[in-house]
Amino acid sequence: MTQYILAIDQGTTSSRALVFDKEGNTKSIAQKEFKQYFPKPGWVEHDANEIWSSQMAVTIEAVSKAKLQADHIAAIGITNQRETTIVWNRKTGEPIYKAIVWQDRRTADYCDQLIKEGWEDKIREKTGLVIDAYFVATKVKWILDNVENARDAAKAGDLIFGTVDSWLIWNLTGGQKHITDFTNASRTLLFNIHTLDWDQELLDLFDIPRSMLPELCDSSGEIAHTSGMLFAKKIPITGVAGDQHAALFGQMCTKEGMVKNTYGTGCFMLMNIGKKPLVSKNRLITTIAWKIGNDVQYALEGSIFISGAVVQWLRDGIGLIKSAKESEKLAKQVEDTDGVYFVPAFTGLGAPYWNQHAKGTMVGISRGTSAAHIVRASLESIAFQTYDVLKAMEADSNITIKELRVDGGATENDFLMQFQSTILGVSIVKSKTMEVTALGAAYLAGLGVGYWKNPQEIMEKWKVDKTYSPEKDSSVPKQLKSWKKAVQTTNYWTNPE
Ligand code: ADP
Repeated sequence: MTQYILAIDQGTTSSRALVFDKEGNTKSIAQKEFKQYFPKPGWVEHDANEIWSSQMAVTIEAVSKAKLQADHIAAIGITNQRETTIVWNRKTGEPIYKAIVWQDRRTADYCDQLIKEGWEDKIREKTGLVIDAYFVATKVKWILDNVENARDAAKAGDLIFGTVDSWLIWNLTGGQKHITDFTNASRTLLFNIHTLDWDQELLDLFDIPRSMLPELCDSSGEIAHTSGMLFAKKIPITGVAGDQHAALFGQMCTKEGMVKNTYGTGCFMLMNIGKKPLVSKNRLITTIAWKIGNDVQYALEGSIFISGAVVQWLRDGIGLIKSAKESEKLAKQVEDTDGVYFVPAFTGLGAPYWNQHAKGTMVGISRGTSAAHIVRASLESIAFQTYDVLKAMEADSNITIKELRVDGGATENDFLMQFQSTILGVSIVKSKTMEVTALGAAYLAGLGVGYWKNPQEIMEKWKVDKTYSPEKDSSVPKQLKSWKKAVQTTNYWTNPE
C-alpha cells in the first residue's frame, strides 16, 4: 500500500494540514483561519480550543481530500507558531486563559525591569535569547499572576503549560502526553541550551513551578501516538519542530553555514551553526535547530518584524497599490528610488537592532518622488533589513555566506529577489515547493518512522525553482551607506537626546 506523511502546520492566522508523498510532493492541503483577539493595544490572544478544533477539522479534511484511510498515513509531523503560550488544567484539559500569542507585548515593561536588574548577559548565556516579551516565560508568569487562583493551582500541581506543539500533542494523545520538542523549548527563556534541560535558576526567577513543564522530546523519532479519537487507527507522531526550525529542515539546510530566509509577514533568517551553541555578539539569538537522537544542531536566528507586511501596508494602509503583485510592476517603472529610503519599523525594530520603541521612517523625499519610488523603497527595505541580519550572522559565525535559500509569499517578487541578490552579493535560491515549513515537519516525521532512510535521501529530492545571481552595480556601497543612515535616523527619532 502506498503510504504518505501527514503534516500538521498550526500557524498564527490559520491551521493547515498537508499530505505529502515520498517524492515530497503535496497530495492535498486544507486550511482554516481562526479568530484573532486584540483585547487591548499590544495584546494578541487566540482561543486554544479553537486552535485545536480548527486543526482537527483541517487534518480530517486533508486526509479525506487525498482519499486516504488511516492505514495510508505512515506518520504525523507537527510544526507550529512558536512562543504562543497556553496554560491548562491537567485534570480537565481546559485552558485557564486564552493562548497569549508571540506578538503580544503585555510583558514588555516587566522585560525592561529584568534588563535593568542586569539579567541580560546571564539569560543570553544560558538560553541564547534576548529578554523580550516575544518569548514564553514572561507570558506564563503573567497568567499565574493575573488569573484568579492560578498560582495556588499551579503550586498544587493542577496546572500545566505548553507551547502550541504541546497543546496539540496533549489533545492528539487524549491527554496522555505532556511533551514539547527541543526547538520549542529553546524559545521559552526557561531552557538551558548547553545542558539541554530546564534551568532551575530561571524557573525561580520567573516563579514557575517545575511541575508545570512538559517533558522534552526529540524533533524526530518515536514521540507519541494519536489516541484513536481522530482516526480509526493509532498513528505515530514522529516529527515536531517550531515553524522556522521546520523551514530550515525543509530547505535542507542540514550543514553548518547553510542559511534560509523566509519572507512572510516578517522575515526569519536561520543559519545552521552545527553542534556548538555559539552565543551571538551581534544581537542575534541562538536556538536549537533540531535534536535527533544524540545529534543536536544549533542555529543563529535573526527575526525581522516587518517585511511582506510593508507591502500589505502599501495596499491596505495607504492604497498605493491594489495587489501585492503590483508592487513589482511599480518598482520596475523607475531606475532607482531617487534617494528615498524607508525603514518600516511599524512595530519597533527586531534583529539586529532590538529597538522596541522605533517607528517607521521615510527619508530623502523630494518634489519628484512618485508612488513608484516609494513602492520601490519599500521593497528595498526588505532586502536591506535582510542584509543587516546576514552580516551579523557572518560576523558571529566567521563564515562567508555564499548562498541564501528562500521561501515565503514575498519570494514571488522577482524584483525583490534580484535586488536582494545584488545587495548581498550572494546567490538566492528559491526551492520548488512553496510549502517548506510543512514539508520540514513531514521530513522530520518521515525520518522518525523510517519512511525516508536518512537526510541524504531527502536531499536528493530537494529541487530548485529559480536561482538569482548578483548583478554588477557600482552603486551598492553608496546605497548601503544611505540605508545605514536611514536606520540611524529612525533610532534618533525614537531617542533624540
Ligand atoms: P505569513 O506566513 O507570514 O502569513 P506568507 O508566506 O503567506 O506569510 O506571505 C505573505 C506575505 O507576502 C504578505 O505580507 C504579502 O504582502 C507578501 N507578498 C505576497 N506576494 C508578494 C509579492 N508579489 N511581492 C511582495 N510581497 C508579496
